Amino acid sequence: MSVHNANHDRVLSVLNTIRRAEKSGHCFCPTCTNAIVAMALNCVSPHYYVEQQRDQELGSPWPVVEAAVRDAIEKLRAQPDHLCLRGQLKSYRRLTDSIAAGRAANESKTNQKK
Ligand SMILES: [Zn+2]
Repeated sequence: MSVHNANHDRVLSVLNTIRRAEKSGHCFCPTCTNAIVAMALNCVSPHYYVEQQRDQELGSPWPVVEAAVRDAIEKLRAQPDHLCLRGQLKSYRRLTDSIAAGRAANESKTNQKK
């Protein structure tokens, strides 16, 4: 028998609903998802239970949890230095593209000299 936080279950549920329902351009990579869950959980009170109590309605009201999750998504989006997996992948692609462009430019100069 273990201890759970009902609001953790609710935050995950709301986040999954938002992720499925919206094509808003939010990133839900594991890094961003964990950041959103942590920020949302810090905005709602914990509501712990043991498995035997699970048949009861537990946790903060759904609108409160949804507001916390949406607020966390917006806060994360507003962090300019936030580097999620998708952001790192974009940076890597920009780097490899610029290397490829540099090579192409060098080859073109070499071909002009011939
Ligand atoms: Zn991300």
